[in-house]
Amino acid sequence: MGTRSINDYTRADAIEYIEKNVDSIVVADGDKDTYRALVRKGFFNDFIKETGSYHDFMEKLWFHFNNSDEKIIDKYHVFLPKVGEFVSKYSKRIKVVFENITHIIQMTIYPIEGENQYMFYLDEIDDKEYIEEDMTTDKVKSIQNTYLFSMYVDLVNDTTNSVSITEIDDETMNTQIKYSEWREQIVEMISPEYQKLFRKRTAPEYLKKNLAPGSTSSFDCLMMNLEGKYIWVKLIFSRAETDNDDDYHFVFMVQNIHESTMELKSTIKKYEEMALRDPLTSVFNRGRIENEVINAIKKKKMDEIDISMMILDIDFFKCVNDEFGHSVGDITLIHFTETLTKVVEKYNAVIGRWGGEEFVVVCYGADTAKVAAIAEKIRGRIAEEDFLRVGHITCSIGTTTLRSNDELSIAFDRMDRAVYEAKSSGRNCVRSVNYL
Ligand code: GH3
Ligand code: MG
Ligand code: MG
Repeated sequence: MGTRSINDYTRADAIEYIEKNVDSIVVADGDKDTYRALVRKGFFNDFIKETGSYHDFMEKLWFHFNNSDEKIIDKYHVFLPKVGEFVSKYSKRIKVVFENITHIIQMTIYPIEGENQYMFYLDEIDDKEYIEEDMTTDKVKSIQNTYLFSMYVDLVNDTTNSVSITEIDDETMNTQIKYSEWREQIVEMISPEYQKLFRKRTAPEYLKKNLAPGSTSSFDCLMMNLEGKYIWVKLIFSRAETDNDDDYHFVFMVQNIHESTMELKSTIKKYEEMALRDPLTSVFNRGRIENEVINAIKKKKMDEIDISMMILDIDFFKCVNDEFGHSVGDITLIHFTETLTKVVEKYNAVIGRWGGEEFVVVCYGADTAKVAAIAEKIRGRIAEEDFLRVGHITCSIGTTTLRSNDELSIAFDRMDRAVYEAKSSGRNCVRSVNYL
């Protein structure tokens, strides 16, 4: 129970109270890069030295990730002096991790006499419940918040304000950076292949010319994050709605789109891959295998390597359809390509469906004898395979070896001739034609 009435308190009591209760009071000089602690109690005894560099003090308080004591990569430290420049009175709560323990610090900053000189009042808020609650809201926020960075830009006065770096802090910083300076510094964080684009799209003349009031433009690029990894980001410029043609206020934002971009890229790759495959058998389609042969011919012209190919035609396949129906015929084609794939997988070979019941295999590193041996192996395996409902089927194979002056149609003529010979020799056999 207090015995004093509030009327008994004086200004001197207030000052005494601050002296007794505020955990730490620090004076700092930004220009001289020094600070001096006037009061240090509790955790501040270890956390802050009696005196030291203001830059280090700011780095300790601010320039680490929201939820850990991990430092931000050096490249971003160009912004550190600006972080420590306060344009007016400022107050906020920050979270620091010191020796693995999270501390919430309530901080009030007063600019004092000299330019870039400040008085810091720091208090540790020692409420575990508050800390836990704060951490869970932080987690939710970090999931929702895909904006890494945002600020307001005034192109006429070359100023920025309300800079917010969400990875460091979810509140805006009470600081001002010249837009032109910021641009020169941030370009260093853009992946080299995108720096030219960044310079072009962030140039004041470009923005003035290309962005009507109320409109937004954006582009994607790779940018180094605060941990030093390149990630996909969307850089967004949005011009404020205005009737004044000479007013050039923008909101600039950096959005983290890394995960969605990576997902999109892999989906595109999957579709690209699908477009090259025969939907029934999943081996390459005609267009893709034709390309393979064209490239193989080019390769043959440049290097002295053996490349051979073969065409396989299932014998009496029409009878399979006639006797068992088209869907059984389809299943047989799938089973046929699976068997074919298994046999050739130990060779450097590429399979494609040429059409209907005909397949082409391009074999790298195979001369005439080798391709004939591979073809014979395939023929044997197919002949002994038991196909569902259908039982045994056979195929005829024609092979040819590429020549250094080959052409697509000529090579195919030789292969066709070879299959024709296999068919007319009674089917279920391999024939080679290397000259016409
Ligand atoms: P040959 O020994 O002379 O090659 O006789 P064949 O019956 O295999 O030759 P033909 O060219 O007369 O017939 C090929 C058959 O392949 C005709 C067609 O119905 C069948 N076919 C082509 N594509 C497909 C397909 O995608 N599914 C099914 N089930 N059958 C197909
Ligand atoms: Mg055929
Ligand atoms: Mg056939």
